[in-house]
Amino acid sequence: VELINTGSELMLGRVLNTHQQWLCRQLADLGYVVSRQVAVPDTASDILQAVREALGRADLVIATGGLGPTSDDLTRDLVAQLLGKALREDAAVLAHIRGFFESRKRFMPERTKVQALVPEGATVLHNPHGTAPGLAMEVRPNPFRANGQPSWLIMLPGPPRELRPMFTDTVAPLLPRVLPLASEFICRTLRTTGIGESVVEEKIDGPMKRFVAAGLDLGYCARPGQVDVRLAARCGKAEQLVREAEAIVRELLRPNTYGVEDEDLETVIVRLLTERKLTLALAESCTGGCIANRITNVPGASAVLLAGLVTYSNAAKQKFLGVHAETLDQHGAVSKPVAREMAEGARQQAQADYALSATGIAGPSGGTAGKPVGTVFIGLAGPSGSVVEHQFNPYDRETFKQVTTQQALELLRRTILLEPSLGSPVSRTI
Ligand code: ATP
Ligand code: MG
Repeated sequence: VELINTGSELMLGRVLNTHQQWLCRQLADLGYVVSRQVAVPDTASDILQAVREALGRADLVIATGGLGPTSDDLTRDLVAQLLGKALREDAAVLAHIRGFFESRKRFMPERTKVQALVPEGATVLHNPHGTAPGLAMEVRPNPFRANGQPSWLIMLPGPPRELRPMFTDTVAPLLPRVLPLASEFICRTLRTTGIGESVVEEKIDGPMKRFVAAGLDLGYCARPGQVDVRLAARCGKAEQLVREAEAIVRELLRPNTYGVEDEDLETVIVRLLTERKLTLALAESCTGGCIANRITNVPGASAVLLAGLVTYSNAAKQKFLGVHAETLDQHGAVSKPVAREMAEGARQQAQADYALSATGIAGPSGGTAGKPVGTVFIGLAGPSGSVVEHQFNPYDRETFKQVTTQQALELLRRTILLEPSLGSPVSRTI
């Protein structure tokens, strides 16, 4: 499998090539490992050369971008030209484009009609989120391969919000037909937090040895505040192998495993709170609303999140959360007692079941010998009282926020799971 990302904006560093990462990841999880990837500008010669070369090697070539209506969108025309296929106007695609503009009460520019042109023999991949359809075509015989062996060429639109659903809904189901796998492929990702990559490895490497010997592919992916363990197998007994390995890894990493596949900690939190009919409030200082941001990224967050306050100054902590002046004077804003009062204040003000707080020194300045940059206190007030965690996250500001947010959400997750008597739990322990 080869991937071609077209777009001059990619070469200018104006747009990050997220398709490369996203598509490689999706394909890998389905058992297709991309063997080569190239990004090229929107220049006819570059696109032609890239497509020709890739078709000369790969069974499946996926090209992204350049399917739109503007003069720099050349992929469709170039591919038709390269493969000697005529372009025909597709009535269904044209109707979709018209409908797309009508439903948005927008005038349809004449140029958008070019997106209804489909190379002879190509399959149209419906684009519910845009006007340019994707295209899939079998190149048979393939003039670019020595023995004429056929290849598939799939073209996807550039905008991520069009490409991603099209891949998931249309391309992924097509793959087994286009490129059948030689044997069963199973992949499972377990997500952990609060434990370093080397510790994860130390814990599971030994017990996984016999599985690896039997064909298990064991991989780790570490990111700030998170380590993913990927278990994959490609053999006759792939499913059994991955299932058994997963059970052991889960057991070994039990308190730290919070989810599977692409599940985020915030998704798990919203689900746990929703199931138990519990509510949340937030009092953030050093995380600047990051916790609220993550929670509100989850559909259905309104059922659980009542309020989130960013109380950056001491005055705001006093005014909105009722933190005492004496506590601030005695211990400083970055302290255990202040984190506690922030959480308790938020819980009371919002009348929530739980409230999280975070107060810390993100840096680069503001650290002292006793409280160096990276010091952070995370408070949690709940029905059974309050706890404060002291953490040390000496990173750049962005990573500091990310890791602190992760720790706060994890503290909440574990606390909720420890209080199964609350609300009406439909306990689903991960
Ligand atoms: P459009 O109809 O919007 O013109 P298109 O299929 O012609 O779609 P492009 O013009 O190549 O696609 O890209 C449209 C936009 O999609 C780009 O401006 C960019 O923001 C985004 N995009 C394109 N390629 C990538 C990529 N590899 N990674 C991330 N974003 C991308
Ligand atoms: Mg375009």
